[in-house]
Amino acid sequence: MAAKQFKAESKRLLDLMIHSIYTHKEIFLRELISNASDAIDKLYYRALSEDITGLSRDDFSISLSIDKDNRILTISDNGCGMTKEELENNLGTIAKSGSLAFKKENKAKEDIDIIGQFGVGFYAAFMVAEQVKVLSRSYQGDSAWCWQSKGSEGYTVSPAEKQGHGTDIILKIKENADEESYDEFLDPYRIESLVKKYSDYIRYPIRMEKTKSRKKEDSDEYESYSEVETLNSMVPIWKKNKNEVSHEDYCRFYKDKFFDFADPIRVIHSSTEGASTYNALLFIPEKPAFDYYSRDFEKGLQLYASGVLIMAKCADLLPDCFSFVRGLVDSQDLSLNISREMLQHDRQLKLIESRLEKKIKSELLSMLRNDREKYEDFWQGFGRQLKYGLYSAFGSNSELLSDLLLFYSSNEKKLSTLEEYIGRMPEDQKYIYYACGDSLERIDQLPQAELVKDKGYEILYFTEDVDEFVTKVMPAYKEKEFRSVSSEDLGLDSDEEKEQTKKQQEENGDLLTAIKKALGDRVSEVRLSSRLKSAACCLTAKGQVSLEMERVLGAMPGEQKVKAERVLELNPEHPLFPTLQQLFAGDQETLANYAELLYGQALLREGMLPENPAAFSAVLCRLMEEKEK
Ligand code: ADP
Repeated sequence: MAAKQFKAESKRLLDLMIHSIYTHKEIFLRELISNASDAIDKLYYRALSEDITGLSRDDFSISLSIDKDNRILTISDNGCGMTKEELENNLGTIAKSGSLAFKKENKAKEDIDIIGQFGVGFYAAFMVAEQVKVLSRSYQGDSAWCWQSKGSEGYTVSPAEKQGHGTDIILKIKENADEESYDEFLDPYRIESLVKKYSDYIRYPIRMEKTKSRKKEDSDEYESYSEVETLNSMVPIWKKNKNEVSHEDYCRFYKDKFFDFADPIRVIHSSTEGASTYNALLFIPEKPAFDYYSRDFEKGLQLYASGVLIMAKCADLLPDCFSFVRGLVDSQDLSLNISREMLQHDRQLKLIESRLEKKIKSELLSMLRNDREKYEDFWQGFGRQLKYGLYSAFGSNSELLSDLLLFYSSNEKKLSTLEEYIGRMPEDQKYIYYACGDSLERIDQLPQAELVKDKGYEILYFTEDVDEFVTKVMPAYKEKEFRSVSSEDLGLDSDEEKEQTKKQQEENGDLLTAIKKALGDRVSEVRLSSRLKSAACCLTAKGQVSLEMERVLGAMPGEQKVKAERVLELNPEHPLFPTLQQLFAGDQETLANYAELLYGQALLREGMLPENPAAFSAVLCRLMEEKEK
């Protein structure tokens, strides 16, 4: 029979396995046992929900057997099994492309890392076996099939005999090579210790026949006999007492189950009894998954009903702002065959969600207070999500999130919470000031911020798109309003000062109108400003839409572009101002050119380009030429 070829992607992974120099080859057993357990889950779950009668939980098990002489290790399960098509589709292709997708994103990472940290699944068998046979019979069919392969050359599928449904994975263990010994995988004690290490929590018994010896009756001689032993404790890690589980156990479980290559930054293990009874085991990853900020990402926790997995990603258990949390919830209050639609309306589930929400917040707060460095690492990866979460819920969850926010502070020169900011506010400061820009350096240079800084007030630097939007849905923190340094009223001028600006404004009314005329619709107003110190001018916006918001909204897809109502503000104390007054009196044409330059440079300081850079440059050159004359 001609061998069929593996799909290209599969072949790559397979090659990686066969030629792996990875030292932890032992994980192959974990992978195969986990597949066996999944296969039983599938059948057991169907048995419960589709009323397949005659199957009870006690009927299920995974068996290991060793034939040392022939170098064969077999892993058998009586789960759902596979049809011929399933054998070809599942084992000839990689269904879950997680590891490969990851690999593409992280070309620099060592292959070894990926093998060790990601569930590579079935192909891991090829790290220890020179030939793999999969003898399987689907619970839906009468015939059995045997898939076999010696590696990347391809595989064959042929009819076979097998009693009952399920799958036997038959491994022909490699011969020892110069530096590699494979004998250990034929040693029952070694196999037992691997099961305990990696697969202890598997919820079905993993059995193995062991040869033991005992003293013969009425004699001093020993005889050997064999006995089937269950190797695993079958208690899932989340059902164990916290003090029975080491941090390492949690990390291993997390990496194994949730395909991360790094330890979680926080583990939350809680059990609750009362109004709703559940165990939750949650993990906060160290960094966002490669697809976290993409459309492909799906949030959710695994949901178990009394130990049986009923949903792999239950989105309703996690609010969007905490979508990065991985983990599971096991509740005995949920019915096993509850449908997705019903789950959404389930009151128990809502109750669990709101408890988890509070729990996650309190864990994050405790990290913020007790382990600031770690929290800032976390913030690096997920701060954006907390802010998006706040914005997209229209601020309805600001109580949950506002204490968790961090922003860069102009005075502290590092990240600060809002609470810390407020704690440092001098008594006469009314608002929480912020300034927007695409980098800390750029914001540092913003002319609008000069007056606020001059007063010694601290400014929070908003460098991310979402930042200012947060203040739109959460206008105040602890009753202190947010105020942009570009806003019309900074709340800093005394009545007297206000009066003076107003007077100056009136006196220069015609000049301002002339400049406005030169700029046309590009600005909606030209006015004098008290916020500027050393700069001659700046650009602000009136109304609801700031320049920053115009930029962010403009970058989004969609026809309708929102425009900020731009205001060119001039500094009447700047040495340039009398020049403008003179030009207004004598040389309107040059004034118009100056208007162009003032507006252009104000844009540049905002990090924006003049609408017509060529025209801007032409005016600039003309003025330079005149200087020469
Ligand atoms: P994964 O388990 O992550 O999907 P694998 O490469 O380990 O990836 O397995 C591929 C597929 O083969 C599984 O999704 C499953 O459908 C099927 N499979 C593997 N082992 C078994 C088994 N013991 N019984 C039934 N199906 C299995």
